[in-house]
Amino acid sequence: MSEIYDLIILGAGPAGISAGIYAARAGLSTLWLDKQYASGGQIINTYEVDNYPGMPGMSGIDLGDAFAAHAEKLGLSPSVENVLEVEDAGAEKIVRTKKNEYRSRTLIIACGATHRKLGIPGEEELGGMGVSYCATCDGAFFKDKTAVVVGGGNTAVEDAVFLARICQKVYVVHRREELRADKILQDRLWEYENVEMVWNSIPLEIRGKDQVDGLLVKNVKTGEEQLLETDGVFIAVGILPNTEKFRDFVQLDENGYIIAGEEGVTDVSGVFAAGDIRTKALRQVVTAVSDGANAVTSVQKYLLKQN
Ligand code: NAP
Repeated sequence: MSEIYDLIILGAGPAGISAGIYAARAGLSTLWLDKQYASGGQIINTYEVDNYPGMPGMSGIDLGDAFAAHAEKLGLSPSVENVLEVEDAGAEKIVRTKKNEYRSRTLIIACGATHRKLGIPGEEELGGMGVSYCATCDGAFFKDKTAVVVGGGNTAVEDAVFLARICQKVYVVHRREELRADKILQDRLWEYENVEMVWNSIPLEIRGKDQVDGLLVKNVKTGEEQLLETDGVFIAVGILPNTEKFRDFVQLDENGYIIAGEEGVTDVSGVFAAGDIRTKALRQVVTAVSDGANAVTSVQKYLLKQN
């Protein structure tokens, strides 16, 4: 009979890592799975995380590494395995990966979220050929070139600032005439004279043959179309929860997020959700790490009741 863990944690972003730290300290027998080697989830794509207390200006990769090193010091590291399905067998939760089947008394789902696509012509075809969802990963390829950032949130503005430092010219295409991003980030953006805002505009088509050479946009107020000549298009139009595999397992809201409050409790007994994947008002590193801690506390309470 294979081992039955107290807890299986899915995901090694800030919520999963925090859950790992709390689980290790609580002495729970824990298995921790993530589909990729680098820990940190979405923050590994973030140039600078400037709002995590005590670590101003730290790069996302460094912060992810520091979080993971903390868990490792406590004896817990994620195993790299892609989860294919989960099953609720009552007192036991079953997690299946390509090679293995694991059993646990509880489960914390902390699989985070991923970037949303625009769904316009050229986006798929020119992926990796000038279309990118990560300025910190791909920005260096556009040194002294022109880039367009699509979006008006924190990610878009951070990407635009990052690119403005290396590119000759950066357009920011936003569908309204006011940015959603925090004021501190906006103020940083306004410092760059090579940034041009394209307000009230939506992208229609990414153009290019083997490499992006333009983005066709339409002004939603005037109906006028404009072709922006560019070498790259960085898409930063929000995130979608990674809940595909959990659709028939746990209750989701209309946007696909797992319905769970601060304590991470879901509609399935013994299953908890933490971080960006759950319904919540603010998706930040600081809220993700507190989710991880809360979820483990809920796991402990649940296990005590079962004993
Ligand atoms: P977001 O805050 O949801 O912003 C998405 C942006 O894309 C919005 O400006 C939205 O326009 C626009 N948009 C959405 N769908 C679009 C479409 N189909 N076509 C054109 N534009 C579209 O997403 P995010 O910037 O990725 O941030 C995600 C979360 O991470 C947020 O909670 C954010 O605060 C957090 N985050 C925080 C930091 C930080 O604090 N340093 C950094 C990065 C991300 P509207 O404004 O009109 O809706």
